Amino acid sequence: MLLSVVIPVFNEEENLPLLHQALHQGLAACRWPWEVVLVDDGSTDGSAAVLTRLASEDPAHVRVVFLRRNFGQTAALAAGIDHAQGDVVVLMDADLQNDPADIPALVAKLEEGYDVVSGWRKDRQDPFFTRVLPSKMANALISRVTGVHLHDYGCTLKAYRREVLEGFRLYGEMHRFIPAYAHSVGARIAEVPVRHHPRRFGRSKYGLTRTLKVVLDLFTVKFLLSYFHKPIYLFGGVGLTLMLPSALALVVLVIRRIFWKVALFTSPLFQMSLMFIILGFQSMLMGLIAELLVRTYHEAQGKPTYTVRQVLNIPGERGNTGRPQGAVKPGNEGLA
Ligand code: UDP
Ligand code: MG
Repeated sequence: MLLSVVIPVFNEEENLPLLHQALHQGLAACRWPWEVVLVDDGSTDGSAAVLTRLASEDPAHVRVVFLRRNFGQTAALAAGIDHAQGDVVVLMDADLQNDPADIPALVAKLEEGYDVVSGWRKDRQDPFFTRVLPSKMANALISRVTGVHLHDYGCTLKAYRREVLEGFRLYGEMHRFIPAYAHSVGARIAEVPVRHHPRRFGRSKYGLTRTLKVVLDLFTVKFLLSYFHKPIYLFGGVGLTLMLPSALALVVLVIRRIFWKVALFTSPLFQMSLMFIILGFQSMLMGLIAELLVRTYHEAQGKPTYTVRQVLNIPGERGNTGRPQGAVKPGNEGLA
């Protein structure tokens, strides 16, 4: 078994040598052989040179991927995951706010039979009003909406079985939603408190606006998790909710007009009903288009609509491999 630690790097030159040291110290306690995949996300400081030096000094452990420009933390993580060889992949930050000494505990938890082990910065060392508070609110919201109850979605330090990370792509700020996605394909998820240190070198690349992006991403994620396979339930549901009461109102208006000779236009109700019926109908039609897209997706790419944990006695298929396979070859739904 091999452990891959994937780390995105954007302008962290002072942190890198310390990070490399900390990895060696922290992972000494780990029984597994390990590699670290450092992804240079278009750094403009001396990070690239430091990475090149580390790679030549420690070829047994250090792998480096240089991206052509700055693509953002999520894309950098995705690049790292694609280039990692490990059976278990641990993601973490390069700025030493996460502590590699926590990795053995995460891996130990994974070995208990979990597919995702999420780090929880119980004692977070960041500014309260701009970072900790918005993050707490975002976590509460994400937990509620996705139904996956974690304290700290935003903590990059998490360990994943390789299979959980296969089968979908990461967009936007979405690396924080991997646990929610993994849960939707049946992965078992655990949480472990981890250390958190204040940033000593370099600057944080984020501020308050990220929380807004996360909230917007949450809409997408909720839609994909709950309605990807049956979008008509959402669009049709909205459509019917608009159409039924409006149609009822129209009937009442018309009956009043015919039997009591009450004019149709005494209130805006007539126009409103018509408008909502049209809107509702539009929404239903959009739902049908979405259904077509989903079918194209599944049928053109041969993606199943289910995920299998294990099969027994079926020739030609891998049976019980002796480890839990929460998300074996999931369809590319979820965050795709
Ligand atoms: N990062 C990156 N690309 C970016 C921004 C950040 O690869 O465009 C990396 C950064 O080098 C660090 C991690 O993502 O390793 C987290 O960034 P940061 O520490 O600024 O975020 P915070 O801890 O403040 O949320
Ligand atoms: Mg940081």
